[in-house]
Amino acid sequence: MTANPIRTRFAPSPTGAQHVGNARTYLVSWLLARSRGGEIRLRIEDIDSPRIKPGAMEQALADLRWLGLDWDGEPVVQTHRLPLYEAALDELKRQELVYPCTCTRSDIAAAASAPHAEHEGPVYPGTCANRSAADAGQLVVPFAWRFRVSTSPNFEDEFAGPQRIDLKQLGGDFVVWKNTGTPAYQLAVVVDDAEMKISHVVRGDDLLPSTPRQILLDRALDLPVPTFAHLPLVVGEDGRRLAKRHGDTRLSALRDGGMKPEALVGLLAWSCGWLENVRPITPRELLPRFDLATIPRTPFVLTAAQLRQIGYP
Ligand SMILES: [Zn+2]
Repeated sequence: MTANPIRTRFAPSPTGAQHVGNARTYLVSWLLARSRGGEIRLRIEDIDSPRIKPGAMEQALADLRWLGLDWDGEPVVQTHRLPLYEAALDELKRQELVYPCTCTRSDIAAAASAPHAEHEGPVYPGTCANRSAADAGQLVVPFAWRFRVSTSPNFEDEFAGPQRIDLKQLGGDFVVWKNTGTPAYQLAVVVDDAEMKISHVVRGDDLLPSTPRQILLDRALDLPVPTFAHLPLVVGEDGRRLAKRHGDTRLSALRDGGMKPEALVGLLAWSCGWLENVRPITPRELLPRFDLATIPRTPFVLTAAQLRQIGYP
């Protein structure tokens, strides 16, 4: 036993079904922890409440169990933890690191002239940045809380290597509390990972741009920065993110169609370089084969032929 045992987490969002791409990330997260005698916690990221589908949480747990992945302790549910996030927001207000922002989406789009990254939206033009936290008391329209980005921390990703992401070019000051009165993803994740003592965050590399923001919040709140491992996504044969047009790759659909979980785990293990050929295997049997370094740096292209090979219904 080491002094600081590794601890990872599964963080399914109940806004959509878990698919093959999620399964690959969960498998790596599980193997990283279990291969080093560590723990895995489970967190349900349900603060985005309007889009939560009924029964989706139970479905996510059933998907993980079907894959043969277990976790430690009770699931942590974000909507049960609002006071924790509120305390973090209060601390950011106290330090004047956040300000109330009344801009609408169209205000920001109209004020921003520079071209911007497709998924990030325009760079926030700083319209409300001259407000202090106390100015919120005078506002009569809904407002969000925005974090002042003063620097873009570089970081070393355990899988993807050194990262330099310029937050001033990528969104600028970002929302930590929505104008609907709920915490934004960035703040909730930072508070949760610290409170749950997560040492290693394994997730898709679509979240790389979130990481410097989360490091800024960690620093502001005096929280430890976890180790990150951002993995390439699973894509369809057209190179695009898995979606309906690639067929039904929801885990629940594969399960209901009679696919054996060992068959899917075998395909994913092969895609990560742990098996020479695709063959059925359980996560536990993969423990001695696990190696983060053998995972290809490029997205895993999931083909219809591969799916048929493992019993796609
Ligand atoms: Zn604003």
